[in-house]
Amino acid sequence: MLELEEALKQILAAIPSPETEGVSLSEASGRFLGARVCAAVDLPVFDNSAMDGFAVRGSDLASASPDHPVRLRMIGRVPAGQSFSGGPIPSGSCVRLFTGSPLPQGADAVVMQEDTKPLAENTGDILVLESVKVGENVRRQGEDVQKGSILGEAGDCLSVVRLALFSAAGVSRIEVARRPRVGVIVTGSELREPGEPLAPGQIYESNRLMLANLVQGTGAMVRTFQIVEDALPATRHALEQAFSECDVVVTSGGVSVGEMDFLKLAFAEAGGDLQFWKVAIRPGRPFAFGRRKGKLLFGLPGNPVSGLVTFLMLVRPALLRWQGAADLNLPTFPGVLAEPLINHGNRRHFVRVRVDSAGNVFSAGPQASHMLGSMAFANGLVDMPAETTLADGAKVPVIRWGS
Ligand code: AMP
Ligand code: MG
Repeated sequence: MLELEEALKQILAAIPSPETEGVSLSEASGRFLGARVCAAVDLPVFDNSAMDGFAVRGSDLASASPDHPVRLRMIGRVPAGQSFSGGPIPSGSCVRLFTGSPLPQGADAVVMQEDTKPLAENTGDILVLESVKVGENVRRQGEDVQKGSILGEAGDCLSVVRLALFSAAGVSRIEVARRPRVGVIVTGSELREPGEPLAPGQIYESNRLMLANLVQGTGAMVRTFQIVEDALPATRHALEQAFSECDVVVTSGGVSVGEMDFLKLAFAEAGGDLQFWKVAIRPGRPFAFGRRKGKLLFGLPGNPVSGLVTFLMLVRPALLRWQGAADLNLPTFPGVLAEPLINHGNRRHFVRVRVDSAGNVFSAGPQASHMLGSMAFANGLVDMPAETTLADGAKVPVIRWGS
């Protein structure tokens, strides 16, 4: 039986190097950069006002106070989107600005509107009640981002805000990694669609939706298929169809050693090459990985919790690597056990836990691999070696996986 790390190593070694494609920013959320991105302009693009106010020469206002206001002649007004064309502003003058208006030449500060008074005779001139420091209320060109600076590297995940930064910095098209097309097949003659009546011995199918959503969460594209009955021809046919349309096929169920477990045999008959099918973790021991003409098979166990955990540990990193992702790890946060955690078993166990916002970690309940009820209210996993007990108060890394 393979250790998890060895299984992952073999899987990652089989992933082709990422291919890239050009897309507009609106198509890129959640995808991975395929090439470096640099700023096309400075940010801010030009010196501009942080306030509604007046562009001034700070030295004109050294003595300004509420008791001794300084009078300035207003020689212009610059709404957003325009600029002052009158050349350097002379001493004793000011220009009306709004937040984001470019600073006129010669001005070195902005007086807030609140620190001024219009003159009673309504000349357009103003009285300034406070002095200003040079640079006050001015947002300097390039103080945030310099033109040409690196905004992203190949492998970076494109967050909502990163895409906004690209947009602000004048980048409109980018190279991103191609996304694998991932087919999801669930097998089991007992499975019925939710909403259908259940005959004796039948259960509702639940892995397809979970796996499809998990696949999409990696940025990959998902295609789901009809439920497949436990029979060799049906399983082989489903695999052949999925492989003809997809780069990666993820299956659920039928991967163990019972005489109704057809996945491995069907994959071999469909021309696949099984690499391994057991991993030393709980939940999730039966887990098949195979290759077929440059494409990949992940055969997950049918028990829902086993499917979830093996997906997170072995399939997720593979789909991320396919897209050239720099970071394949699930986020891990420090927690403190609020109660003891015990792994009586002889296998490494990813124990489902619930962690509160202060980092206190509680068992999420029963740990059997068919129990989705406790899993659904867990929000973390604690990686416990075989036959170990952790006392309450122990510091544990908690693996999180999103929603
Ligand atoms: P298997 O891996 O096919 O032996 O299935 C293990 C257990 O998981 C059995 O109790 C199945 O009924 C159950 N199971 C398999 N596939 C699914 C599925 N898609 N949805 C819900 N339960 C499933
Ligand atoms: Mg089955």
